[in-house]
Amino acid sequence: MGTPAAVVWDPALLGYDLGGDHPFNPLRLELTIALATQLGVLDGVELLRPEHAPDSEIERVHDAEYIAAVKQAPMVGWDVGHGLGTADNPVFSDMHEATSLVVGASLLAAQKIASGATNRAINIAGGLHHAMRDRAAGFCVYNDCAVAISWLLDNGAERVAYVDVDVHHGDGTQAAFYDDPRVLTISLHQSPMTLFPGTGRVTELGGPNAQGTSVNIPLPPFTRDPAWQRAFHAVVPSLLKEFRPDVLVTQCGVDTHEEDPLAELYLSVDGHRETYRMLRSLADQYAGGKWLSMGGGGYQLLRVVPRSWTHLMATVLDRDIDPSTALPYQWVNDVLRRAPNATLPRTMGDGMDPGHEPWDGSNTEPVDAVIRDVRHAVFPLHGLDPDDPRD
Ligand SMILES: [Zn+2]
Repeated sequence: MGTPAAVVWDPALLGYDLGGDHPFNPLRLELTIALATQLGVLDGVELLRPEHAPDSEIERVHDAEYIAAVKQAPMVGWDVGHGLGTADNPVFSDMHEATSLVVGASLLAAQKIASGATNRAINIAGGLHHAMRDRAAGFCVYNDCAVAISWLLDNGAERVAYVDVDVHHGDGTQAAFYDDPRVLTISLHQSPMTLFPGTGRVTELGGPNAQGTSVNIPLPPFTRDPAWQRAFHAVVPSLLKEFRPDVLVTQCGVDTHEEDPLAELYLSVDGHRETYRMLRSLADQYAGGKWLSMGGGGYQLLRVVPRSWTHLMATVLDRDIDPSTALPYQWVNDVLRRAPNATLPRTMGDGMDPGHEPWDGSNTEPVDAVIRDVRHAVFPLHGLDPDDPRD
């Protein structure tokens, strides 16, 4: 590759803090940066400082009236509408400033790729995929993923593919480009019958001008790495190969982990690592190597998120870490100082084998019915054969 990846980070991003015991706790980012640093993942890497995104950029995907409501919310209090002031999306001080900095971080990452300065860029503070045009949702105030994709389309990219592996449906990003044939959104998530936000069904295929560019893979609760990987491999590579995006944008939420308190998929850190390596390979094969990655959900703050996103940053930087690597003593001590009752894993993996049996049309686990439905709904719209495992 040669080109160093751009890593956007500033401690000011910790200001996106929903407060109290809200699960979206910025400690997860702080501990991730500390772990990556102590493992040497960030050695010699210049951390790029973001600016606040101006309103003109946020307005790419949000109404001006909503932005004004976000700005005023801390003064107004509770009854501000637009999904604000709820248990999921509490009003917090400087919420416009904090969220526009997250958007600015994803924009800076996109700009580094578009300018040719780098092929890969990452903003682990990003991935606020539930925010809608006129409202906050699911802990997300502004949708930095959608802003970055829109910006890329205005700055040289003709097609952008978005792959969202968070346990929740990437509904806000899907909605922003639902009828735009230039953007292929693919979301793998826990079934909407069983989890927020209740969308992401196979039948959500895109608007009349963009049929087949909205792809949803709703997975049964308790899905583990091998089944998750089979679904990914049976759908995502073929579509990216056919769509040929100029940039691959990924939302890498890690609330799919078995220990995550908010959802019921049963993946491991080893599975997350395997997915990142696959996304990197797909970007190299089908997107000219251009890969913009964001974080996302992930609420096992101590045991899961720091390890998974350290693997993500390491993968982006081609500094892959072996799952058997021990957690650094200093990091463990620091975590135990803050959370004396925590029990921490000893290594960078969970000791799971993320390998899978490929889909061949004859598999009979619950996930295989989903794979069949998705392929039959989507593949013909891309000229692919839903029954041919080679497609
Ligand atoms: Zn999530």
